Amino acid sequence: MQLSILLLYILARHTDLDILKGDLTFSELLGVIPFADPYAVLQIIATGSIPGKSLIIGGLIILLFYALIGGRVFCSWVCPMNIVTDSASALRRKLKIDQDDKPTRISRKIRYWALGLSLILSLIFGLAAFESISPVSILHRGIIYGFGYGWLVVLAIFLIDLFVLKNGFCGNLCPLGAFYAFISKFSVVRIKHIKEKCNLCMDCRVICPEPHVLPMIGKHDALVLSGECNNCGRCIEVCKDDSMMFSLRTKSVNK
Ligand code: SF4
Ligand code: SF4
Repeated sequence: MQLSILLLYILARHTDLDILKGDLTFSELLGVIPFADPYAVLQIIATGSIPGKSLIIGGLIILLFYALIGGRVFCSWVCPMNIVTDSASALRRKLKIDQDDKPTRISRKIRYWALGLSLILSLIFGLAAFESISPVSILHRGIIYGFGYGWLVVLAIFLIDLFVLKNGFCGNLCPLGAFYAFISKFSVVRIKHIKEKCNLCMDCRVICPEPHVLPMIGKHDALVLSGECNNCGRCIEVCKDDSMMFSLRTKSVNK
């Protein structure tokens, strides 16, 4: 999915096919519907500036879509960094780095502190703090418009995820992911676990980038209600017993 969305941006940049034009901070669908990163809009507001009408409408469209419907799917379907961190994750499994006796762990709450800090710094320095250094924006703009030294930032994240911390950037550090996790608590699309079908292999927890959202595996039927689940569907893919599936919040099975 990330590649298809990226392709639309690249086509708009290099051809006359203007389906999705701009970048992840602000873009326009068919030159009419604005899309904006609501976290970037929030940082702009924190600087004391008033964002333009298109930025506000675009930010609201994206915010409402993720908050009410899709959940944190930005991280699994849209963000190009996911391609980098998934590659590091796959290589990490291949090199069996995860079998280390004492894997490095740091708090997943750091990303929320980074989120708060970015807004405070935006307020103090009068510039959108995370947006100015965001590896996500650096990578996305780099792919569309060409890289400067920004690829070094992307390489650093790849190496951290590969050698230092499993899913380190997305799972522990990224304030943009934290923002989407924060607003996704009440979205409708959810993962569902059915206990009767589960053989306790725990493959879902091994593949899940946020395994702490799956405490119910093998214990009881439940919807995954944490906003930190990014609806990537990897747990569904690896489950051979159809114990995991997409569902809707309206069909609650939590016990
Ligand atoms: S956590 Fe951040 S870098 Fe990772 S996929 Fe989400 S927005 Fe992108
Ligand atoms: S619970 Fe499933 S859908 Fe949610 S993050 Fe984990 S693997 Fe992805």
